[in-house]
Amino acid sequence: MKRALFYVSICMLATACASVPVAGASVPAATVPATTVPATTASAAIAAQMPSAGLDTEAPMLPSPPAGYLMAGTEWSLPYYLLEGGAPGPTVVILGGTHGYEVAGWLAAGELLGYRPSRGRVFVLPRVNYRGVEARDRFVPGDTDLNRCYPGKPDGSPAERIAYAVFSFIEDQGASMVIDLHESIDFYSTNESKLGQTIILYPNDMAGWNALEAMESINQDLADPLEQFSLLQGPIQGSTAWAAGSILGIQAFTLETCLRLPLEKRVSHHVRLAKMLAESAGD
Ligand SMILES: [Zn+2]
Repeated sequence: MKRALFYVSICMLATACASVPVAGASVPAATVPATTVPATTASAAIAAQMPSAGLDTEAPMLPSPPAGYLMAGTEWSLPYYLLEGGAPGPTVVILGGTHGYEVAGWLAAGELLGYRPSRGRVFVLPRVNYRGVEARDRFVPGDTDLNRCYPGKPDGSPAERIAYAVFSFIEDQGASMVIDLHESIDFYSTNESKLGQTIILYPNDMAGWNALEAMESINQDLADPLEQFSLLQGPIQGSTAWAAGSILGIQAFTLETCLRLPLEKRVSHHVRLAKMLAESAGD
């Protein structure tokens, strides 16, 4: 059944992107950079052209205390939370706020702090680029794009040190899956240079099946074709998902909602997909 679904789904993906085999079928490659704003990293331009982005949304206080901090004792101290399932199982790491102006990603990661996985452990780092979230900035303020710095450097720039801390955490916890929550300014289905409403996976058979199942499930409830998700592979080099997939060999996903949709919908899409993928880890 899974295999049949996969072929049907892939056939529905009209794309000019190159394809490579995943899980016995082919998934289009994400050949475009996962950038969301071409001209500036600041939020002003995107806020002006796209009010639906929700950049004036307040970032809620995070619960205290967290399970711990990465880079503890430094100005980049980064809280993480642990959600424990009711039975032994795999470890999943969910990241929000890698890009500070992608509001639905960090809001969804905050909502996920109330999620109780059925088994295993889920670590949530709700605002990886914490200062970028505060400034609603894509970049680590004063530095560069965190999602091009993985696996990072222990003695590098702030973005490289954050990447190194997050990557080391994923490795040290023995995670079998990483999910990073992002947004894009346009729908991939009508503009293949953007990634809105996509699930991007690092090529891996199990990740392919799990992403397909999650995509089919959510798309069944999305009547508007624009809102429906497409499946792509090949997260951009230097991204969290790229490093987790290529270096650690684990299931790795970048989820991208589209800023043109209402914020509430984008948050719910992230929460639902992240939960479905997390529940499939290790399967
Ligand atoms: Zn992003």
